[in-house]
Amino acid sequence: MAGNNEEKQQNKPIGLIDLSHKTLLQSDALYQYILETSVFPREHPCLKELREMTNKHPRNLMATPADEGQLISMLIKLINAKNTMEIGVYTGYSLLSTALALPSDGKVLALDVNREYYELGLPIIEKAGVAHKIDFREGNALPLLDQLLQDENNKGTFDFIFVDADKNNYLNYHKRVIDLVKVGGLIGYDNTLWSGSVAAPPDTPMLNFVRELRDYVIELNKYLAQDSRIEICQLPVGDGITLCRRIN
Ligand code: SAM
Ligand code: CA
Repeated sequence: MAGNNEEKQQNKPIGLIDLSHKTLLQSDALYQYILETSVFPREHPCLKELREMTNKHPRNLMATPADEGQLISMLIKLINAKNTMEIGVYTGYSLLSTALALPSDGKVLALDVNREYYELGLPIIEKAGVAHKIDFREGNALPLLDQLLQDENNKGTFDFIFVDADKNNYLNYHKRVIDLVKVGGLIGYDNTLWSGSVAAPPDTPMLNFVRELRDYVIELNKYLAQDSRIEICQLPVGDGITLCRRIN
C-alpha cells in the first residue's frame, strides 16, 4: 500500500491534485476518513452548500478544504477572536467558516481583488445569517493594508488575520499585517508547503504555477522562522498553514 502510494507520488508532477485529495497526506483513504468521520458530519449546512457550489467553479482548486475550515473555526473560538481579517476570499469558504465562528458582534474585514468570486458565495453567506459580520473591500490588498496602517488606531487591533492571496506578496503582507495584529494575536499564512514542492529537488516535475511561486514560499518560510516578533507553528493541514502568534 505504502509502496503503491510512493510510486504514484513519484510519477505525478507536483501540484497535480484532484478535489478528493486537497491535502498533503500521502493516503487518500486516510484523508477521506478524516473528512467523513470528523469534518463533514459537523460541517454547517451552508458551508456544505458553498463547498458544493464552489466544486463546480473552474478555479475550485483555490478553495480552502473543509478540514482547514474546521481548524480556522476552532482557532477563532480558542482565542476568542472578535476583530479579524482575511486576505484572499475567492467564493468564501474560509470567510464563512470565520464569520460563523465569530460572536454575533464579531467582524471580519475581507479583502479580495475580485468581487465576482465573492458574489458567487454571498447568497449562501446571507442565508447563513452572518453577512452583517463581513466588511468586504474589493481591491489590491497591499494598498488597502497601507491605507489601514495610515490610521494609528488600526495598529495592533486584529485578533486573527488569515492570509490566502497571491503567494508572491506574502512577505509584503507580513511586513504590514504584523503591525495590524495585536500582541498575542494570530496570523495564519496558507499554502506554506505549496503542494510539498518546498522540500522537492528542483528537477522534480511540477506544474508551472507551482514552480513559479515555489521560491516565494520558501523565502517566506525562512523569513518567518527567524522573525523574533512571532512564535510559529507550521501544520500539514490542507496545503500547509503557518500559524504565527505575535509576541512583541
Ligand atoms: N480563502 C479562499 C477560500 O477559502 O476559498 C481562497 C482564496 S484564493 C486561494 C486567492 C484569492 O486571492 C483569489 O480570490 C484572488 O482573487 C485573491 N487575490 C489574488 N491576488 C490578490 C491581491 N493582490 N489582492 C487581493 N486579493 C488577491
Ligand atoms: Ca489556500
